[in-house]
Amino acid sequence: MTGWIAFGTTDIGLLRERNEDAYALDGALGCYLVADGMGGHRGGDVASATARDAALNTLRAGAERLADDPAAGLARAICAANAAVHHAAGRDPALHGMGTTLSLLWLGDDGEAAAAHVGDSRIYRLDGERLTQITVDHTQAEALVGAGYMTREEARHSPAGHMLTRGVGLDAGVEVDAFAVDAAAAHAFLLCSDGLTGMVADDAIASILRGHAGDPAAACEALIDAAITGGGHDNVTVVVVYRRER
Ligand code: CA
Repeated sequence: MTGWIAFGTTDIGLLRERNEDAYALDGALGCYLVADGMGGHRGGDVASATARDAALNTLRAGAERLADDPAAGLARAICAANAAVHHAAGRDPALHGMGTTLSLLWLGDDGEAAAAHVGDSRIYRLDGERLTQITVDHTQAEALVGAGYMTREEARHSPAGHMLTRGVGLDAGVEVDAFAVDAAAAHAFLLCSDGLTGMVADDAIASILRGHAGDPAAACEALIDAAITGGGHDNVTVVVVYRRER
């Protein structure tokens, strides 16, 4: 039995005609994933599903070695996803230009953890009262914040907040952020698409995660409800992982 208990769900929201998000949980592998696809008339849902499947296949094929260097293993999975989406887009003109975000979290049994991501699907860690975003959005707004041209609050309301600087599948190669994560004091992790974070403030997210501690299905339902109540402008996807009570 692993030390973590997880649940994930997705909702189309109130305004979109299709759900272009994808997610996956593999408790045995200790891997959790969210992808938020983008394309023209079609392609976004193909991109996120293709990326999810390619990443999972790569992670499962390398499962025995994953704990040796988890950040590198997650990065390899995202590179494989990039190749799969890029290849599929090249084969079908209707899918040309499709891409996706991809965020991966690995939680080992001995307290080790790692994350890797491309795009703006976030990973948060809850330590007691404190919610910390452990990913950095690959958006134009975040780049402006990093360079000191915009505050994070301004970025939150800026159109540049949705413009990605990186995506999985857009080019033959992709730059991946991959890093070890300190999970020693973590009570929970959340992976989510921007359909949540665009609609619900971080303090409200933290309050929901604290309020449903130990019940990831209830936390997911409450987060989706909050995104819909907040406007439901986009597809919304959440994966919640709680440390199991001992
Ligand atoms: Ca989205």
